Amino acid sequence: MKTERTIITGGSGMVGKALHKLLPHAVALSSRDCDLRDDRETRKMFQSIRPKYVYHLAAKVGGLGANLSQMSDFYEDNIRINTNTLIAARECGAEKCVSLLSTCVYPDKVTYPLTEDQIHNGPPHSSNYGYAYAKRMLDIQSRAMRSQHGTKFITAVPNNLYGEHDNFHLEDSHVIPAIMRKVWEAKKENKEEIYLWGDGSPVREFTYAPDVALALLYLMEKYNGEEPINIGNTEEISIKEVAEKICDELDFHGKRLWQTDKPNGQHRKPSSNAKFCALGWSPGVYRSFSEGLRQTCVWFKSAWPNVRGVK
Ligand code: NAP
Repeated sequence: MKTERTIITGGSGMVGKALHKLLPHAVALSSRDCDLRDDRETRKMFQSIRPKYVYHLAAKVGGLGANLSQMSDFYEDNIRINTNTLIAARECGAEKCVSLLSTCVYPDKVTYPLTEDQIHNGPPHSSNYGYAYAKRMLDIQSRAMRSQHGTKFITAVPNNLYGEHDNFHLEDSHVIPAIMRKVWEAKKENKEEIYLWGDGSPVREFTYAPDVALALLYLMEKYNGEEPINIGNTEEISIKEVAEKICDELDFHGKRLWQTDKPNGQHRKPSSNAKFCALGWSPGVYRSFSEGLRQTCVWFKSAWPNVRGVK
């Protein structure tokens, strides 16, 4: 494990906190420590630490509603955050930088499973193109710097993430924290039923954030390719199963009513982690969904209501 000077941007976020646990010597930055949209502030911070290794996880992240209503902010903030971080890392002589993209930046019309060579082959979904194009440019910037300056800057692509310190905001949360909050509030208010979108049949891949942290450490050691690399757990779980498991873990026995008049979204969005596995990564490192979810729920119950997006 690399123990030299290390910066984790997004160190106060879900993945950042999981990574900081594994790298306690690293400087974990939040937006309060340094607003990465500001190039001077970013340069100053990086020059003061002069990191050898950078894990770039910071991003403006949000749900469907926020992405739609703040399309321009998602583009501009993320372009600034990424541009400033990579330039500051290069200028202070960082040896390596691992940045995170997301499978949701892949084209809307794509051949499944998602493979890294397809990432720029068509426009992303119209609901998040601000975020998606900014993330794609992170790949372009990393490649351009490698080409001109010889930097070992790489990008990794996780799929849907969940875990401790997730965001439970009503509008900004992803499916797992959204269902957890709904179930927990129903239980607290002695409600006999909860309403869930769609019919629960779509399947998705979920990766436990602490497993992504392990994958990032692995990449820092083992990968130096110019192409992005998918790092997600490819176990598929139906949304119905997700909801059932959350109800079990949070001990909610009311009815689950599926609102079948609401859209289901795409049935499957599988990704390929074949390239990561060919690098020597063992898929056995990923915790099972049941185990990751159990740990997340244990944390959630003890932390409530002091969780992000609620208080
Ligand atoms: P998160 O919990 O929302 O954390 C975001 C982090 O970025 C926080 O530490 C936040 O700092 C920081 N940040 C935001 N704006 C900033 C700014 N202007 N200056 C400095 N720092 C700023 O995100 P996450 O879920 O851990 O995601 C980590 C990375 O994985 C992101 O790059 C995201 O795009 C990617 N990803 C996430 C998912 C997912 O399902 N969550 C899926 C695929 C990829 P504050 O705490 O101070 O706001």
